[in-house]
Amino acid sequence: MPPNLLILGGTLEASALAGAVAEKGMTATLSYAGRVERLKEQPIPRRVGGFGGVCGLAQYLRDHKITHVVDATHSFAAQMSENAVVACRQTATRLLALTRPPWCKKAGDDWQNVRDIAAAVTALSGPAKRVMLAIGRMHLAQFSPCPQHQYLLRLVDAPDVPPPLPHHRIIISRGPFTVAGDAALLQDHDIELVVAKNSGGSGAQAKILAARQLGLPVLMIDRPVLSPRDEVGSVDAVLDWLAHDGTERGV
Ligand code: NAP
Repeated sequence: MPPNLLILGGTLEASALAGAVAEKGMTATLSYAGRVERLKEQPIPRRVGGFGGVCGLAQYLRDHKITHVVDATHSFAAQMSENAVVACRQTATRLLALTRPPWCKKAGDDWQNVRDIAAAVTALSGPAKRVMLAIGRMHLAQFSPCPQHQYLLRLVDAPDVPPPLPHHRIIISRGPFTVAGDAALLQDHDIELVVAKNSGGSGAQAKILAARQLGLPVLMIDRPVLSPRDEVGSVDAVLDWLAHDGTERGV
């Protein structure tokens, strides 16, 4: 039976996979959480919004006779990834994660690693600084216990309500970004510290490389730890898995 694929998206990798499966004429749906206002046009059908937890996702898989799920969500979308593991197990649906390797500290990097956002907030308890807080918009309120800093926020969409940070400036931009552009941004705003999630991949790395170039410290939030699942790092590997139904490659 040919695969009927559900791609859990919200990333460049998910869009690339959507393009690749469309070219092959596969039946596939791309799922978005619905967090951003302007979704990219896609060559396959899409659905938008949460499924309603594990039960809702399991029901969706059954109702739509999904045979394969590719979790191509962002490496910090831990809830969705955990739900996918459990719902696929419950419904005997094949699951593969399409992931990016994390960034690794290299010569010239001045990183302080923290395990999660709460630990990043604790690490910011010192004197006022000019901080580029590059964590998206969902968790900005968690930084309200550190109102002393001047925050530079770069967001895909303007927030519905202003973040509860008394000193902040918002730049609306979707990226991808260049190292030269981000170095200029950091210099123009006299940034003293970059706070970032270890997203991995190239699209969001410019700020990290720019910080290295300028000798700026980075407070790096490590990835959440997820339940074990099969993972690959490229669209081609996903296509290979789909072609062989995951059996020949042992994934
Ligand atoms: P999350 O905390 O793991 O997910 C929270 C809930 O949002 C999920 O339980 C699910 O709701 C819904 N959801 C998440 N991804 C979904 C998808 N692809 N399709 C349908 N529903 C989805 O996720 P998040 O960190 O808020 O991220 C939301 C989306 O933004 C993801 O698609 C992710 O790829 C993208 N994104 C996240 C980040 C980041 O830093 N977290 C960065 C870039 C892009 P139900 O339980 O109701 O099913």
